[in-house]
Amino acid sequence: MQGTSNDRNIPLPIQREVRQRCGFGCVVCGFPLYEYDHIKGWANVHEHVAEDITLLCDLHHREVTSGLLPRDKIVEANKSPYNLRSGISKPLQLHFEGDLCEIHIGGNYFTTLMSGDYTESIPIIVDGIPLIAFILQDGHLLLNVNLFDEFNQLVLRIVNNQLFYSISPWDIQIVGKTLTIREKARKMLIRMTFEPPNKVIIDKGRFLCNGVEILVDSDQILVTNNNILIRGSSSVNCHGGLIIGPTSKPIGGFMSLQGVNRYLGDSKASLAWAKTVKEEF
Ligand SMILES: [Zn+2]
Repeated sequence: MQGTSNDRNIPLPIQREVRQRCGFGCVVCGFPLYEYDHIKGWANVHEHVAEDITLLCDLHHREVTSGLLPRDKIVEANKSPYNLRSGISKPLQLHFEGDLCEIHIGGNYFTTLMSGDYTESIPIIVDGIPLIAFILQDGHLLLNVNLFDEFNQLVLRIVNNQLFYSISPWDIQIVGKTLTIREKARKMLIRMTFEPPNKVIIDKGRFLCNGVEILVDSDQILVTNNNILIRGSSSVNCHGGLIIGPTSKPIGGFMSLQGVNRYLGDSKASLAWAKTVKEEF
């Protein structure tokens, strides 16, 4: 793909092409925070050609510009990016702390004052799998997320503040504090903003798990399986939020849904229905 010359800003479609080719991480080490690097040097080429641009984390970018890491090594890594070989990204450490946590999902607020070790705040849990949760452990506030695709495969995991993702989605990007994963053009799987020390905001999302589909928009949470909408709610010190299916231990939540019909291997009906709600999905 050809870009324009004399403009240092790389056109967005070219950036995406580079991200996909490089496995959404530094080609040397797989780290999810990176810069776009013209392999032949911007000063030499003055054009944006996707094949000639690669991804480098801050460390490896500095090493290359200072000459400590030979350019040849980058050319080599670019041919076989780290994340493409491993299938998952290197972890990114998130910095959450304190004993008060807030999770905002689709304009609904879940606020919990964590009192004592192993206190949990779980806004969404399906069949005992917390899709998003904070836990207080050894005095540390730890974010945990399990995000699945429609094949019930994990695409994003945050395990005790360590974030990593599979390279299978169409596009993954962390810009500033916001992580966006897209299944395809104009089809967003999640947009999640990290607000350390104690807050996470999800204003777009499609949580999928075991045939349950939960769509999140800026002002609502919708369980498409049974058309239940949650809007404008605010829970304080309610350790569970939306609880679907059985849990191994009892959780006090503000909405527990049992006997929810599941989509079995085909979410066409739910997607068609979702389309009538918001175009983005
Ligand atoms: Zn690196």
